[in-house]
Amino acid sequence: MSHEGIRIGPMDETAREREDNRPLPRIAVTPEKVRVLLTEGKGMEIDWVDGHRSAWSFAWLREACPCATCVEQRAQEGRKPGQAQRRSAAVLPMYTPPPKPASAHAVGRYAIQFNWLDGHSGGIYSWEYLRRVCQCPECTFADEETTGVPN
Ligand SMILES: [Zn+2]
Ligand SMILES: [Zn+2]
Repeated sequence: MSHEGIRIGPMDETAREREDNRPLPRIAVTPEKVRVLLTEGKGMEIDWVDGHRSAWSFAWLREACPCATCVEQRAQEGRKPGQAQRRSAAVLPMYTPPPKPASAHAVGRYAIQFNWLDGHSGGIYSWEYLRRVCQCPECTFADEETTGVPN
C-alpha cells in the first residue's frame, strides 16, 4: 500500500477552489467613497479604488453583522450573511420597523461600525468583509459558480 496516489494539487488550483480565503488585492478592499444613506434609511454604498461598486440595504447589513454572537447564531440556523431569520409561525406578526442604524462611524482605516436602533452595535464591518459579501450581480453570480451548482 502506498500513498503515492494522493497528491496535493498545484497552489493555484487550491486558491481557485477556496476563493473565499484568497487575499483580495489592496485596491479591491480600499474604499474610495463610502456613502451611508442614513437619512434616506436606504443602506450603504461603496465605490472601491479598483472601480468596483457595492451597495447593501441596512436590513441586509443588519443580518450580516460580523460580531461573534451573530456569526454563531447564523451558523446554528444555517443562514448566510444577510439572510433574514425565518420567523416562527407561532409568533404573532407584530410590526417590526426595518433595521436602521442611528449612526455609523469609521473604525480606524479598515472598518465601519453601525449603532443599530435595536441597540446592537458589536459588529465591526471591515472593508475586506464587505467586499467579500458584495451583492452586485457580478459578485453574486461568481459566488454561485463556486458553490458547485451544475451548469
Ligand atoms: Zn452582531
Ligand atoms: Zn460586486
